[in-house]
Amino acid sequence: MKCMHCQGKMKRGKAPFEIGKNGYRLRLERIPAWICTQCGEIYFEQNEVDSIQRVIQAVDRQTEHLQATG
Ligand SMILES: [Zn+2]
Repeated sequence: MKCMHCQGKMKRGKAPFEIGKNGYRLRLERIPAWICTQCGEIYFEQNEVDSIQRVIQAVDRQTEHLQATG
């Protein structure tokens, strides 16, 4: 696998994933990822992206009741 950004070599590693949503920020510290040894670009595989999406959906559902509207 090559970096789409600089064509550098990618290696398996762990990277943080952070998302800002309406009302909260979610940060996962050690998600398995591909990291470019040259420019540091991070790629998450579809499997990891799907897992993260499920976490976000669950948090959205659970925080619905907690957040004041208006
Ligand atoms: Zn790169």
